[in-house]
Amino acid sequence: MENNIENMILCEKDEIPFLQLPSFQKQKWLHHAFATRLGGVSTGIFSTMNLGFNRGDSDANVLENYRRFCAAAGFDLQDLVATAQTHQTNLLRVGAKDRGAGILRPKPWHDIDGLVTNEPHVALCVYGADCVPMLFADPVHHAIGVAHAGWRGTVAGIAAATVAKMKREFGTQAGDLLVGIGPSIGPCCFEVDTPVAEKFLSCPFLPVKTCVVKKDNGKWNIDLWEANAQILRKAGVCHIEKGMICTKCHSDLLWSHRATGGKRGGMCGILCIEEAAQ
Ligand SMILES: [Zn+2]
Repeated sequence: MENNIENMILCEKDEIPFLQLPSFQKQKWLHHAFATRLGGVSTGIFSTMNLGFNRGDSDANVLENYRRFCAAAGFDLQDLVATAQTHQTNLLRVGAKDRGAGILRPKPWHDIDGLVTNEPHVALCVYGADCVPMLFADPVHHAIGVAHAGWRGTVAGIAAATVAKMKREFGTQAGDLLVGIGPSIGPCCFEVDTPVAEKFLSCPFLPVKTCVVKKDNGKWNIDLWEANAQILRKAGVCHIEKGMICTKCHSDLLWSHRATGGKRGGMCGILCIEEAAQ
């Protein structure tokens, strides 16, 4: 079953909903999905699909949620590799030896906000609950990446850092890349104080500042989708697809840090190469 929400496709299997981006759905060498907050077994403030370990939920519930989400969305649980997000711009190349890290066994790394690989069946996970999850696909070299960009990672240029990492590791040309921007807090709801706005106004990665708008109440609204898109365009990326789904506006379907006051579970986006490069 499929429905559209904004610019994404809401799929559902075995009563477990998940979201996909149209342009990534067309890439038959890839498989991807973004979880929602529905269809899991967690209770209380984590009800029901919490995919965040170490948030206070039981590990058994989180693992069962992964099992359910992966079964519905078509991933092998053992293929998953998790980030260790701390709002920085460190990226790590992973491969078959890393499958399961951070999900089925402890991950040996920390401070990693983005992952890249060119190996099939290595399913890269990126987490969020307002922060921007980005998916990167190089159809020429059959290489992929994921990156987590809250406002700190955005102004630190993790989008550009991911493009550069893929160029170094795989020879990726920015002009070939397809980048998808998943569910996250939208310009409608991301209100910040002046110190945060000033970080965007002085950000060297942002060529124009149209994503920062001053409001009558003295606060600022920031468009994290457009900020990351502008950073990507400056890095040479032409093919960018924004999902346009605001987590706070859709907090009945998605985890939003701001909508829940931080009492919440976590969502996961997953990107995986299905087949080896020819
Ligand atoms: Zn909103």
